Amino acid sequence: MNFEINNSYFGFKLKEKQYVKDIDSLAHVFIHEKSGAKLFYAQNEDDNKVFFVSFKTPPQDDCGTAHILEHSVLCGSSKYVAKDPFNELMKGSLNTYLNALTYADKTMYPVASCNHEDLYNLMDVYMDAVFNPQVVNEKKIFMQEGWHYELNNAEEAITLKGVVYNEMKGALSGPDRVLSNAINQSLFTESIYRFESGGNPEYIPELTYEKFVEFYNKYYHPSNSFFYLYGDMDIEKCLKHINDDYLVKYDAMDTEVKIYDEQVHNSQDVVSDTFAVPSGTKTGNESMLALNFIIGHSTDRLLSLSMDVLSYILLETGASPIKKAIVDKKIAESAEGWFDSSTYQMVFSFVAKNSSFNKIELFKDTVYRTLDQIVKKGLDKALIQSALNYYEFLLKEADYGYRPKGLAYGMNMMKGWLHGASPMESLKVWEHFETMRNGAENGYFENLIKTYFLENTNSSIAAVEAEEGKQERIEENNQKHLKAMKDNMSQEQITQLVKETKDLIEYQSSGDTQEVIEKIPSLSKDDIDKKASFDSYQQLENNGIKELIMPLDTNGIVYTKLMFAVDNVPTELVPYVGLLSRVLGKLDTEKFDYEKLSTQTDMFTGGIYGRLVAYNEKESVTPVLCINAKALMRNIDKMVDIIQQIIFETKFDTQSSLSKIIQDLKVEYERHFDNNGHLSAITRCLALFDEAGAYKDATGGIAFNDFLLTAGDNLEKMAEGLKKVAKLVFAKENLLLLVAAEKNDLQSVCKKFYEIEEKLPMSKAKKQDVKLVKNIDAEAVENGAKVVYNAKAANFIKEGFNYSGKMSVIKNIINTEYLWNEVRVKGGAYGSGCNFSRSGIVYAYSYRDPNVKQTFDNFDNIGNFLSNINLTDREITKYTLGAINVIDRPKSKSDRLELMVSRYYNGMTKEDVQRERDEMLSVTENDVKECAKLFNSVMKSGAICTFGSETKINENKALYKRTRRLYNKC
Ligand SMILES: [Zn+2]
Repeated sequence: MNFEINNSYFGFKLKEKQYVKDIDSLAHVFIHEKSGAKLFYAQNEDDNKVFFVSFKTPPQDDCGTAHILEHSVLCGSSKYVAKDPFNELMKGSLNTYLNALTYADKTMYPVASCNHEDLYNLMDVYMDAVFNPQVVNEKKIFMQEGWHYELNNAEEAITLKGVVYNEMKGALSGPDRVLSNAINQSLFTESIYRFESGGNPEYIPELTYEKFVEFYNKYYHPSNSFFYLYGDMDIEKCLKHINDDYLVKYDAMDTEVKIYDEQVHNSQDVVSDTFAVPSGTKTGNESMLALNFIIGHSTDRLLSLSMDVLSYILLETGASPIKKAIVDKKIAESAEGWFDSSTYQMVFSFVAKNSSFNKIELFKDTVYRTLDQIVKKGLDKALIQSALNYYEFLLKEADYGYRPKGLAYGMNMMKGWLHGASPMESLKVWEHFETMRNGAENGYFENLIKTYFLENTNSSIAAVEAEEGKQERIEENNQKHLKAMKDNMSQEQITQLVKETKDLIEYQSSGDTQEVIEKIPSLSKDDIDKKASFDSYQQLENNGIKELIMPLDTNGIVYTKLMFAVDNVPTELVPYVGLLSRVLGKLDTEKFDYEKLSTQTDMFTGGIYGRLVAYNEKESVTPVLCINAKALMRNIDKMVDIIQQIIFETKFDTQSSLSKIIQDLKVEYERHFDNNGHLSAITRCLALFDEAGAYKDATGGIAFNDFLLTAGDNLEKMAEGLKKVAKLVFAKENLLLLVAAEKNDLQSVCKKFYEIEEKLPMSKAKKQDVKLVKNIDAEAVENGAKVVYNAKAANFIKEGFNYSGKMSVIKNIINTEYLWNEVRVKGGAYGSGCNFSRSGIVYAYSYRDPNVKQTFDNFDNIGNFLSNINLTDREITKYTLGAINVIDRPKSKSDRLELMVSRYYNGMTKEDVQRERDEMLSVTENDVKECAKLFNSVMKSGAICTFGSETKINENKALYKRTRRLYNKC
């Protein structure tokens, strides 16, 4: 369709049209004349189509209204009255992305799919949700998703519950989030950015249903909406749909929602807060300090890109001057740059991690003094160039992980579009890199430092420190408050609350009728491709080295992996292999010191880093140390040269560097534990009985963290251990080389590695019988979190069951039907799930969970649920679609490579992959019922692990054989 400027199409008038090279699209900007809605359409060949609708939703307080709305509108609408259409869509659509997100000033409802019909269905469910939600007529949805008092009978104590209430309790407990809130409060005293848009649990209960509905009516109007369409789609059908079914019913509002700037303030008062740690664990050295600046506006794309690059230059590489100054002066163990361009007034923070409050002045002074020196002397030109090269590599690669490319573009565009910038301008990137590159010669970055840091008085200091027993104190206060409230209630009020509680539970437990569920559009089995996709690879042998090569359309990028088997490393040295995988590329080598090494790596590659992976099939584990590297074809010689330095010439004896890397790793792990409690619980749970799980724990989990905690005191011993394992591991017979590149480049890339292959010695060390499994089956790991993460796991192959592709479909049923209802909706946890692995592991877990015993009981009852299940053909199709969809989603190049490797190690052939797909497509109700046997026979005896809140763990002490603290110097 060729749209013409100023013509109208289905109520949409075309205002602008332009080819935008940066996203390889013909971009269109429309305005819906009757309702005032804005719409952007990127026309291109991309099969992974994206739609979203966004609203500007500035918070007015800390009640989390926008966030509760985001949850609630997805709980049923006029056309789709089912209680949870969102979950229905999750179960059985071919979506490649489906989510809803609350930002500091906007709410976004994005969907994506490679299937035309599917995208159209998803769009309709989402539009009906935002324009005609049930929640404005049904208060129970607000109570369930937001907050409510619960009282099951007159004798019990009142409790406070709600999905968002609970989610935010979990989200706000980590030190990073506490600091980020303190930063906003220190910089913004009048602007809306001083509020927590997600909602602060302390204030969420102040939100009334009436205020909530008012907020909806004010902001969820087409005049305040932004539509985004991207990809290969029938655009006329989409525009007609949006107009005829929704927008045509609205008249434009004349008031525009505006976000006002913060006035300049010249004080650098310290705004401080605390985060919770368990009693007896505070050392005084876990504080975080931040020096913050308000930086221009997010409508300035050049400025926001430049700040990203500057943050990288100053704080994120091995050669970054500010990071170096902070760490060398022992102000903190680690330093980072936080640049937030998601707010209209952007924020840059210099963050010192693991520091203390008495170093605030020194910290501030050091940052300013170093910046001043940089401006006077100029930044290292090579450092700037390498940072620009690195960012350009990332742009060229366009790997946005699980997010479709079109969505990543749209999300970036919204930062400017929401505040009035042209969407076209907000998408342009390459021309800004030209500007930065040219400017670098003439002090461009030094000028930024001068203007936005040294001369910027809109700045502040934020600092957070640990507080012992904070969580207990808050819980106690809450309970006291709830008790006082109950004491003041009349008999009538109590009876009323008991009734409300009963009504809500009844509402939640009553299922939707078949008719209601079937209103939600879904696809049929015919929409599924019966043939499994399989990236074929070639196995070769050159110079006695095994090679796997995969031709791939890579936009000129070469991906390589050097995989060294580490099964000749004895038990006592296993943690050192974990450490080795993390220090490679960060220590001095013969030719480059670590700063030069870092600059060279960024200059010529898209990254070189080590990782330890334990591949497991049935009884055996294959641990592998993998060096991952990628670069443009023209830089391949440089890349191989750097890898060579890393493998053969690393100086493990440079203690000062080793000590810094270990500090950095410790900080990284602290953050990992704060953000990934469920993964920590699962890994630890598996470590209790499974060798592969135990290997992962010892080289990258809680056991590895124990090792890191003492590592800094024994640097000599560390260096010795690293040397020993490097000698064992870097041997010819251990190596498997993997190359993925454009077909014509494959041969020559392999040849580039000959020199490395020639140099590798034979090690002849024997395979070791490693025993790492812990001899207990129930463990709890305490930290300062307000919630817990529960995991329960067992081995079903040992109990005589076999893995089948059908399990992926059954898993989908358990997760979306049973665990969603029991653990999330009724239990109040933010999430939960279960999983099966080909090696025979089955596990269930919960995420940000207020319960312990109740959740484990739910896990134990999965078998009962399955044996009593009734499924229609339509439902089975839906779950099959959902399961197939997970497998068929478009993958990034590195993910495809990783999948190929794991198939290689697990011995999965093309036929195996097809067989599993056939199994998935053939699931019957009987198969699902049969699986109950597996759960009934293995779940009750499975191992358990709870990770998180000290209080909750203490209340359930009897469940565990051992309870330990997370940070346990042993
Ligand atoms: Zn949420």
